[in-house]
Amino acid sequence: MFDNLLGHPVLAQELAAAVASGNLPGGLLFSGPDFSGKLTAALELSRALSCRKGQAEWNCSCSSCRSHRLLEHPDMMLIGNRAHLEELRAAAEMLRADHSPAVRYMLVRAVRKLTRRFDPVLWEGANDRIRGAAGLLEELMDHSEAIAPPAELESEAILEKRLTNLIESAEKLSTRLPTGGIPVHLVRNVAFWSRMSASSGGPKTVIIDRAQQLQTSAANAFLKILEEPPTDTFFILIARERSRLLPTILSRLRNYEFADRGSSGEQEVLARVFRREPGYYHRIRDYMHSFSGIDRDRMQKTAARLFESVFNGEKQSGTLISEPLRLIQEGPPQSFQVFLEELLAALEAGMKQIENQDFGPGVVERFDRMKRIIMETGRMAESYNQTPEFLSETLVYRLRDAV
Ligand SMILES: [Zn+2]
Repeated sequence: MFDNLLGHPVLAQELAAAVASGNLPGGLLFSGPDFSGKLTAALELSRALSCRKGQAEWNCSCSSCRSHRLLEHPDMMLIGNRAHLEELRAAAEMLRADHSPAVRYMLVRAVRKLTRRFDPVLWEGANDRIRGAAGLLEELMDHSEAIAPPAELESEAILEKRLTNLIESAEKLSTRLPTGGIPVHLVRNVAFWSRMSASSGGPKTVIIDRAQQLQTSAANAFLKILEEPPTDTFFILIARERSRLLPTILSRLRNYEFADRGSSGEQEVLARVFRREPGYYHRIRDYMHSFSGIDRDRMQKTAARLFESVFNGEKQSGTLISEPLRLIQEGPPQSFQVFLEELLAALEAGMKQIENQDFGPGVVERFDRMKRIIMETGRMAESYNQTPEFLSETLVYRLRDAV
């Protein structure tokens, strides 16, 4: 059980013990930084709970595990606005060189991590929101079936064409995920679904990814579910920081904290899961970003320049933000977050530089204030439906005031 949850031996043991003893509460929170294995653990927990043999080994032959391994089990629901495009592109590239079942599973799971968020059950009554998605979902289903073991893989040329089409369809589908948080009707539909009897007769699982993005009305609707929990249904919330959830919701969840696996822990994931040579990528984030379409190098230089200008008291905010803004607007949706990461990195490099020098009073405090502002902007970007233009301007104004 939890064989593929790397770098968290104690957590894996705790979860396995809770499943074995039937001592798992209906509300769980998996909190921790990005790329720390929270969704992997949630999907594995869902499989472990419904394994018919009880052991839930990775290659378990029971019908429930087979269906969970391909993320197609009808008693698992996945909501939250995350597209997994980088993982999907990474897996597609791996499949070009390596046709092993592990890689085929990885690609099919990456596709389903996206498509499961469009389950008709979730969108009941809001069909206009996903009009046009049906065709894309069907295409992605066909591609997955052709790639999923034990199907015989097609010839190189046909497979290559399929991979190109698959990525294109997934990109199109990702634009149909709701922007501006998780809407209330998704939670209401989940509430309705969780009170119906399970199609397999076993337990049901609802995974709420990026739960900090629940809109206020959605969070309140979810609180109502937790106050009168349906029988035999497990809700697993995934969030970067637990403090971002309502205290009334938090008090009803058992928290499992996923620690940062650190560079050496992530090297193990990069080697074992993604089969990367040791040391080539420092962190999983770096590897994934290489599939994001973001010009990381240019982003890094632009962020460093902005930081330096603000720190040196440059006042022309228009010229300050024009270059970062162009990069962000031209790039994929996560560009703004990546820019903030690079800005933080520039700030930390600056802090290191002054560490052993006497820069007079107030400099360290100035760095701290700037760091806080960058992190707050990151939260704003994630939680509210603000344009990058507005966020960048606010960020620069606030940073200038803090210097
Ligand atoms: Zn099983």
